[in-house]
Amino acid sequence: AKSAGGNRAELADPEADARAITRHGLTTALPSALERGEFFIEYQPLVHLGDGTVSGAEALVRWLHPQHGVLGPDRFIPLAEHTGLIVPLGRWVLEESIRQARAWREKTAGPLRINVNLSPCQLTHPGLVQDTVDILERAGVTPDALCLEVTESALIGADDGLLKPLRRLAEMGVDIALDDFGTGYSNLANLRRLPVSVLKLDRSFTQGMQQYPADPVDLKIVEGVVSLAHSLDLAVTVEGVETSAQADQLRLLGCDTAQGWYYARPGPPEQLHTLALADATS
Ligand code: C2E
Ligand code: CA
Ligand code: CA
Ligand code: CA
Repeated sequence: AKSAGGNRAELADPEADARAITRHGLTTALPSALERGEFFIEYQPLVHLGDGTVSGAEALVRWLHPQHGVLGPDRFIPLAEHTGLIVPLGRWVLEESIRQARAWREKTAGPLRINVNLSPCQLTHPGLVQDTVDILERAGVTPDALCLEVTESALIGADDGLLKPLRRLAEMGVDIALDDFGTGYSNLANLRRLPVSVLKLDRSFTQGMQQYPADPVDLKIVEGVVSLAHSLDLAVTVEGVETSAQADQLRLLGCDTAQGWYYARPGPPEQLHTLALADATS
């Protein structure tokens, strides 16, 4: 509960109270967690739908909390955004995953790309472009190995000030992906003015395709989005692919890349070595 004489409904709900306490506890623990190295990254493969080979991976951050165990990003990213810790945390994720991409390049022949999520708070932080350039240079990784994922909702109504750093990164050769596409009600015509080269279709689009035959309306919608995206020269990645039926139908609809449990769950970096090496020898 907040202050004396505060909200009675909140006092009467012990679960809500417990959640608030955890939230508060987690928030105050965030800065030292970063210093102590309690965050780690799992990598989920992205696969070319055409031939099933691995094209790269998305970096997904986790927190190994000393009392609560492994916490998913939904538990702490909003808190980090609220306090501003997302800026150093996001920088750490970028640095660590680019270092990892470099290690993959040394061990596998194919050029594996790394996708990193960017919070809206990082977009408005003035250091974004220079930090990214520095991190790439220090790791000896070229910008084309990096794709930054920004959610559709973060870019809705974005003005030029917000788009400028993304434009500069795109000009350098960094790919920008519009994440969770289809959940943010953005004006499709608006896509043309965004410096994005990849659309990541939200999982909700592909849920109706888990079996044959797919929901015909879902098929039509995805077909329409893919043709629009391709006409704007955007690649289409689908997320949340859990079954072979989904993979088959999405391939037939012309989607370029896929990600989901059907291929692999997010896992340690070694998982990617193994999968990419299997591609190279098959
Ligand atoms: P997202 O960017 O949409 O990431 C995809 C989420 O879907 C991940 O959840 C992933 O584990 C999950 N997923 C992957 N394949 C499947 C599937 O086949 N079925 C289902 N049901 N789920 C699947 P996760 O790892 O819990 O991440 C949640 C969100 O947290 C991410 O959503 C992203 O928005 C955010 N996030 C993760 N890492 C970072 C980060 O380093 N920085 C920022 N700013 N946000 C992050
Ligand atoms: Ca993402
Ligand atoms: Ca997504
Ligand atoms: Ca999503």
